[in-house]
Amino acid sequence: MINTGKIWFNGEFKEHDDAKVHVLSHVLHYGSGCFEGIRLYKLKNGKTAIFRLEEHIDRLYDSCKIYRMEVPYSKEEFLKAVVDTVKVNNLKSGYIRPLVFRGYNQLGVNPAVCPVEAIIAAWEWGAYLGEDGLENGIKVCVSSWRRPAPNTLPALAKASGNYLSSQLIKMEALENGFEEGLALDYFGNISEGSGENIFLVKNGELLTPPVASSSLAGITRDAVIKLARDLNLVVKFETLPREFLYLADEIFLTGTAAEITPVSSVDNIKVGNGSRGNITKLIQDEFFKVVTGENKKYTDWLTTVE
Ligand code: PMP
Repeated sequence: MINTGKIWFNGEFKEHDDAKVHVLSHVLHYGSGCFEGIRLYKLKNGKTAIFRLEEHIDRLYDSCKIYRMEVPYSKEEFLKAVVDTVKVNNLKSGYIRPLVFRGYNQLGVNPAVCPVEAIIAAWEWGAYLGEDGLENGIKVCVSSWRRPAPNTLPALAKASGNYLSSQLIKMEALENGFEEGLALDYFGNISEGSGENIFLVKNGELLTPPVASSSLAGITRDAVIKLARDLNLVVKFETLPREFLYLADEIFLTGTAAEITPVSSVDNIKVGNGSRGNITKLIQDEFFKVVTGENKKYTDWLTTVE
């Protein structure tokens, strides 16, 4: 169990054990919440920085907008609250979880009558898919569960309810001996992992599905696209049929938690020679240079916590 120290809760800090909601809170019954996952990195110069904080808060507010949830704080207030949460817990590296949700009032489906509440928690955290995964790649499978069809549950909202789909994908993958599951979209084309975007490398070019393939507009995905272009690599947004997974030279997953995780096999078919590919390694190296403050071009992606 994680012990997060102090949690920011509706504008004030509460001790871990006191940060509680009522069991009749709307979010608990209907998934009416939007959240973010943000990483905190220790820089090469010894300082600590939050990676792409503004982009994460922008996406949080966008997710809330889709669900007509008016966040009762300005973006500036929210940004400051995230930084304060890191400071008050004296964290040097780790993970930050802001959540905006519908609280307790009435228990009908209509959320509009329930208050919009917010929390921010932060804790120490290592590699999500394992240190070994970052180096040697992970075994993934194509899930039997597809992502929601267009105009059903909005994939561009990072909403709590969407993660029921992710849970089905993840549990099935683990039950069957894989480390992660990949979902196809409604049309059977490649979408994303349970909590990651996907990139394929074919003939030296990077391919990633468009967000219209029911995937989240990942902030790590965006970083990878920019870093790849800096390396003069071609990046294409393409609707990708499932079988591309078996024919790709390299595959890697991107996400705040997963960072840049190579895929060594899909459905027990080796990707390339079954180990981390050269382009994947190149992108990983660039990414870790950015998050540790060594790539000066992207220092504005880092919010230093003094
Ligand atoms: N897709 C899904 C479903 C996710 O949960 C995540 C993690 N937030 C991502 C993609 C990757 O997004 P990001 O790089 O912004 O963390």
